[in-house]
Amino acid sequence: MIINQIKEVIGNTPLLRFTSSQLPIPERTEIFAKLEFLNPGGSIKDRLGQYLVSSAVRAGKLKAGGTLIEPTAGNTGIGLALAAQAYSIQTIFVVPEKFSLEKQALMQALGATLVHTPTKMGMTGAIKKAKELAQEIPNSYLPLQFENEGNPKAYYETLGPEIAADLPETITAFVAGVGSGGTFAGTGAYLREKYPEILLYGVEPAGSILNGGLSHAHEIEGIGVEFIPPFFENLPIAGYETISDETGFSYTRQLAKDYGVLAGSSSGAALAAAINVAQKLPAGSVITTVFPDAGDRYLSKDIYTRTKY
Ligand code: PMP
Repeated sequence: MIINQIKEVIGNTPLLRFTSSQLPIPERTEIFAKLEFLNPGGSIKDRLGQYLVSSAVRAGKLKAGGTLIEPTAGNTGIGLALAAQAYSIQTIFVVPEKFSLEKQALMQALGATLVHTPTKMGMTGAIKKAKELAQEIPNSYLPLQFENEGNPKAYYETLGPEIAADLPETITAFVAGVGSGGTFAGTGAYLREKYPEILLYGVEPAGSILNGGLSHAHEIEGIGVEFIPPFFENLPIAGYETISDETGFSYTRQLAKDYGVLAGSSSGAALAAAINVAQKLPAGSVITTVFPDAGDRYLSKDIYTRTKY
């Protein structure tokens, strides 16, 4: 395959099948994981970056020489920086200090400038700082993935149709991690139209509030919320699976060691949640989940070698 631009290989990722011979799930049940770490920027957010930048350029909100500013845990920054390059647009990302150094280095490698906010202020602190910067910097645009309808739309138009094309017969449940909520809401809405009976389960780490728990620090990176995403308003959600750091990291290590899948901790959490859902559903169910990013961007956090979990 010959391509002219790296963006041509964003999306169209494969679904990896897991069966009852590999995992503690009912016989004939299958779990399919969409391998989003195979995108060129190493995460699902390459899709979002392309979508948000190209729609802002089309709408005249961003022009060559302008500046895109965004609060991000890292993967969105990488996806946005990749997309912005093609239009000669500068990028500034506001990153809470706790997020992985590798993701920060990758954003910088793609030409981005980083601004840090204190870990204890969470994503809310990063959002506030990004809004302040956008007021100060001329010709700037703030996509704000946490409230931009383009976020779920990016997945409604790409990830959802890809899954439906590969699994045309039926899907019993869709299980996906919730960070901004875009992946879950956009893909969930598309699949619900295709398969009206499908059950939608969100995944959060312990320390996130979706199941009514108290907000506290967690080590699984990329998922977990401090507020309910606005995209969930009209979504019929079957439930949320709350996964402990211990369980999430244990599955992340197992994915690497037993299946050659070098994914981040939100993928381990997604697999743990998909197994929980599979155990609640009848034998023969088809469950689809998403492995959002690659694990090598967490090596400095001992993702595969930690002994604590
Ligand atoms: N996993 C990882 C590693 C992520 O970076 C993100 C995005 N923060 C997610 C999952 C969740 O995706 P979304 O923002 O679409 O909910």
